[in-house]
Amino acid sequence: PIQTPKPHVAILPSPGMGHLIPLVEFAKRLVTAHDCTVTFVVPTDGPPSKAQKSVLGALPEAIDHLFLPPVNFDDLPEGPKIETLITLTVARSLPALRNVFRSLASRSNLVSLIVDLFGTDAFDVAREFNVFSYVFYPSTAMALSLFLHMPVLDETVSGEFRELHDPIRIPGCIPIPGPELLDPLQDRKNDAYKWALHNAKRYRLADGIMVNSFRELEPGPVTNLSKSEPGKPPVYPVGPLVNVEPSTKGDESNCLTWLDKQPHGSVLFVSFGSGGTLSSQQINELALGLELSEQRFLWVVRRPNDSTANATYFSVAGQNDSSFDFLPNGFLERTEGRGLVVPSWAPQAQILAHGSTGGFLTHCGWNSTLESVVNGVPLVAWPLYAEQKMNALMLTQEIKVALRPKAAENGVVQRDEIAKVVKSLIEGEEGKKLRNRMKDLKEAGAKALSQDGSSTKALSEVAAKWKSKIFN
Ligand code: UDP
Repeated sequence: PIQTPKPHVAILPSPGMGHLIPLVEFAKRLVTAHDCTVTFVVPTDGPPSKAQKSVLGALPEAIDHLFLPPVNFDDLPEGPKIETLITLTVARSLPALRNVFRSLASRSNLVSLIVDLFGTDAFDVAREFNVFSYVFYPSTAMALSLFLHMPVLDETVSGEFRELHDPIRIPGCIPIPGPELLDPLQDRKNDAYKWALHNAKRYRLADGIMVNSFRELEPGPVTNLSKSEPGKPPVYPVGPLVNVEPSTKGDESNCLTWLDKQPHGSVLFVSFGSGGTLSSQQINELALGLELSEQRFLWVVRRPNDSTANATYFSVAGQNDSSFDFLPNGFLERTEGRGLVVPSWAPQAQILAHGSTGGFLTHCGWNSTLESVVNGVPLVAWPLYAEQKMNALMLTQEIKVALRPKAAENGVVQRDEIAKVVKSLIEGEEGKKLRNRMKDLKEAGAKALSQDGSSTKALSEVAAKWKSKIFN
């Protein structure tokens, strides 16, 4: 039992490694910088994944975790989208969360509940126990601005956003063409839209919103979000919080020993996050494009999926598929020595921190992007799902740290285009510019997190509010 007067914080991560990983880093900061204790209360829809268990199992003593009983989805109609499943996993876990809160409140100074972007239904439980409710927004200040603006868009725009002639204007942000808006906004009739809007409307019920970004990275959105407005909770930029510690699983696929043998800054790392999958045709072109580029590469390859771009979101690292029979004939032999192909999951944080890594072809998930920023590694932007197209837009047009290959008319990015972009990133003049820009951002990010940095101060403000609750 926790008997000290330390503030205790409950964190409810919604499903997805991309939500859990930054929350874990956030929790570590609460413990080391503010002497809090933390319990991760993890909603599930089945047995916890290997990846979840390895991240949660490696936490320091002041951070506890428990898994809530799996929710049931038997009643859902066919083919629900991930945003629907994520929101419902949280909503259906509330009775179990209530029980956990009863126990936590009786044996600790429970001061706050933290949820991520799709967990706002849990605010009801926080209110019942008179503890603060916070959102930790694990993506960009730009996407958060869109979330906060969504109720207005919903009321003022009719029809589908993707069909609008003019780009969408969100305060503080670059204009966003409708088709680049985040996935659940692409079909307003789908339940996923309803759930995104439902969560977005409930953001105003929060006592505060932390966002995993910093001013120098996103000056426009961060400046705008820091203005106070009636009905808008205070927003605290607390990033870049990224997974920097060595993975406990080690280097099963020998990526790091292979990188040790490559020249400095010469390798393109290719990975599509926890959920990303490509079609068979696209995998084929990507392989041949990498081959044609004549550059070194380290590629985390998953079996192609022709119907969806986020096929492994709920099942990543549970896959033990290490055959590469779907790659073009002879590809592995022809690129041997110059390229390394690994199945399913790799120690990404360590790969990006390795001196041999010179570029990152990424799906633009925000954690992946931040991991690249803190290591000064420039990007090839290859967005697939969620808010990734918005991230790619910002990274190429506003921050200017990424190149984005163009797809052909059939939607597939062709080998020549891939080879051109990869070559230009790793050894071209263009790549040099992007790399320098990334180096500046790397320094700005380190400064934000330093002792007097903006993100450190923002988090202290939040922690002070929590501590004041104990003595009131
Ligand atoms: N990740 C990893 N190894 C992999 C794939 C992903 O360690 O092979 C980690 C990655 O470092 C990042 C997270 O999983 O911290 C993925 O989050 P992101 O926001 O980039 O994408 P998402 O998976 O949410 O789409």
